[in-house]
Amino acid sequence: MNKPLILIDPGHGGSDPGALAILQESTSVYREADINLKIAQVVGEALLLHGFDVAYTRCNDLQLTLSQRAELSKVYRPALFLSFHCNAASSPRATGMEVFTSPGRTESDTVAELLIAELEKTTVGKVMRTDPSDGDRDKEEKFVVLTQTACPACLLEFGFMTNPADLRWLLSETAWQQIAEAMINALTTWRDDV
Ligand SMILES: [Zn+2]
Repeated sequence: MNKPLILIDPGHGGSDPGALAILQESTSVYREADINLKIAQVVGEALLLHGFDVAYTRCNDLQLTLSQRAELSKVYRPALFLSFHCNAASSPRATGMEVFTSPGRTESDTVAELLIAELEKTTVGKVMRTDPSDGDRDKEEKFVVLTQTACPACLLEFGFMTNPADLRWLLSETAWQQIAEAMINALTTWRDDV
């Protein structure tokens, strides 16, 4: 069977930690780069068990530029590029997930719509922050990893590290499993349709 290759890009790494956050009950400083990598590993292992091949832009605390990440899509030639991130905001009340694609109607929008629908099903009680103004619910931005990649690409923000409830969830095995289940459901549907 032809196994579609998914290239997973855990955002940040090395001297770029991404968002940083603390929790009242802990002395740890949590780095977005570490959470992105953990989620990438859990999702990647789950995808391998469900008929996909998986590659990563980084598998450890490596620093890569955004262009290097996009360049890797030309080396690996994946069916899909997924960039994983967690958000931060000045208000601790900001909460929820976001799925981004590049502007305009592309195959990435099909994947994004499936990811949004499945994340809503598996991440019970979590908010999906959407932008329905252009006819679909994903948000659209000219991020380098969305515009310079050589395949359909989505960037996911799994929650706000600056929101204590979101951060506790992002650090939990429950979250990783819920996210992995959503990814498998969405990408299996997408694979079987194309
Ligand atoms: Zn980030």
